[in-house]
Amino acid sequence: MKNYKHLFFDLDGTLWDLRLNTRVTLEQLFEKYHTQLNDIHFDHFFARYHHHNDHVWALYRDGKMDKETLRYVRFERAMHDVGIDADQQFVRSFSEDFMDICPKQPHTLEGAHDVLDYCSGKYQMHIITNGFIEVQGHKMNAAKLNGYFEHVINSEHCGVRKPHAGIFEYAMKMSGATPQESLMIGDDWVADIIGARDYGMDQAFLTTTEDLLNEMQIGEGHHPLRHNYKPTYTISSLTELKKYL
Ligand SMILES: [Mg+2]
Repeated sequence: MKNYKHLFFDLDGTLWDLRLNTRVTLEQLFEKYHTQLNDIHFDHFFARYHHHNDHVWALYRDGKMDKETLRYVRFERAMHDVGIDADQQFVRSFSEDFMDICPKQPHTLEGAHDVLDYCSGKYQMHIITNGFIEVQGHKMNAAKLNGYFEHVINSEHCGVRKPHAGIFEYAMKMSGATPQESLMIGDDWVADIIGARDYGMDQAFLTTTEDLLNEMQIGEGHHPLRHNYKPTYTISSLTELKKYL
């Protein structure tokens, strides 16, 4: 086992339960807009939202879509798919409400606080996130994740997103860490795992998000994702990290 000094955590889907917080928010919005959404099956909408959200996030990560467009089109496309005849104003209001409510949701991944408490004092801990700078602080407040981390590195600080080497380099500079003494913990295969690997950091791949995606894929008759690289550690829950730290 390596002696790490620095742990770098992803935020969304790794500590902050993006999926559950999204679900809770959308359920609230379905109530608020029940006249417009009356005939829509929530789970169908939720699945289509995830499909489009993942797609536009990949474009955003690669610099092929700006965040204003991302925030709008994920809902526009999901509404279209489930047969809501939405005008621009409705999509815009829905999207703005979502951005207002979702970051204030408190749910964390199972074991998040337990692992952070366990690691606290043993390691220097930091966040590296591609999430929007204006909402990541709200999420950390709502989920009581403040206080554990020395540096919260946001891609908007340095102009490039994970998996780009530039953000890992920026993180090293900010924290005074070296890649050799650092571990990246994240749920996104490309952004967190391949990004950290290519930068020379060890990686812990939290598979919860991918497991859910695979369940959906299989449900739709597609094959589960396969990877031709083995991360340093693969964990199906955050508490498993304790075995390695
Ligand atoms: Mg993530």
